[in-house]
Amino acid sequence: MIIITEAGIPQSTLDELREHLEERGVRTHVSRGTDRVVVGCIGDTSALDAGAVRRWPGVESVVPVRTPYRLASRGFRAAPTLVPLGDASGTVLGGERVIVAAGPCSVENADMLIETARGVREHGAAMLRGGAFKPRTSPWAFQGLGVQGLALLADARAATGLPVVTEVMDPRHVEIVAEHADMLQVGARNMQNYALLAEVGRVRRPVLLKRGLSGTIVELLLAAEHIMARGNEMVVLCERGIRTYETATRNTLDIAAIPVLKRETHLPVIVDPSHAAGRADLVAPLAFAAIAAGADGLIVEVHPRPGEALSDGDQSLTIEAFGEMMRALEPFAAARGRTLSAGARSAKVA
Ligand code: PEP
Ligand code: MN
Repeated sequence: MIIITEAGIPQSTLDELREHLEERGVRTHVSRGTDRVVVGCIGDTSALDAGAVRRWPGVESVVPVRTPYRLASRGFRAAPTLVPLGDASGTVLGGERVIVAAGPCSVENADMLIETARGVREHGAAMLRGGAFKPRTSPWAFQGLGVQGLALLADARAATGLPVVTEVMDPRHVEIVAEHADMLQVGARNMQNYALLAEVGRVRRPVLLKRGLSGTIVELLLAAEHIMARGNEMVVLCERGIRTYETATRNTLDIAAIPVLKRETHLPVIVDPSHAAGRADLVAPLAFAAIAAGADGLIVEVHPRPGEALSDGDQSLTIEAFGEMMRALEPFAAARGRTLSAGARSAKVA
């Protein structure tokens, strides 16, 4: 149940309403607009008398929630949520500008990271990606540099001004990753790791939540709900391809998920064409399709020498190929009435 108040409802009336609701076993979540207040009821609302709530002084309307997710739903907040990237210029994800995060799959060493960061910034990336803690299918594969990788990401941000997004796999690492990174990535394999979702819900850092390999759209939204229910509403959803019977690509990019999510939720939606494709030659066409379908941004793997990459070299673009993709992406953004992260290109830092 979502309760929308009249403009200027007195605080005391609002407090009494919340007390009434909470006495009946539901948690309340208050969101303030310019003049109205929206109260979301979380939990079992069966003991609530909707008529009594509708007649409450200062209540304008009561909207029943028909979806299992509430805080993430469009009904709860009609306006798009703008998620700050954390850079000095106040760039946001979910606004008019298409945001592109780019960088290596794994942070391998300081030199390759800085070289990539400078390269992608030059071509218009607004954010640097790079994994320090890597979820690898094989225990014998490179597992990432861990905390040392986080320090290198922080150094790359200091050198380039690009905010940094990196994966956190373990609830015990949330604090240290949040100390070094501007955005915490929850990877596809952890979309339903509820202990991790709870922990990233407690920090004041935006979260990039990737869709699980076999996660449905509703399950993705409910995973976002887990984070939001803990108090962190800065969640960005990422479609990164799902497992299907197709073997020509690493995963199958679910393009329809983009307009479905944009209709269902106020949260920003981005696409990872690299993990969807698994092949560098398919990354640009999938990126074009994603932006044409209404995605708010992209996260793309870029390596200065993909042949030498310690992980995901096959799907990594060279810096030059990334530049070509960014140039070709511009008309797709324009067709959706949006601009590409062109600000980063003109603003030369260090
Ligand atoms: C990654 O971004 O490198 C990654 C491991 O992504 P995903 O969780 O989507 O597989
Ligand atoms: Mn990768």
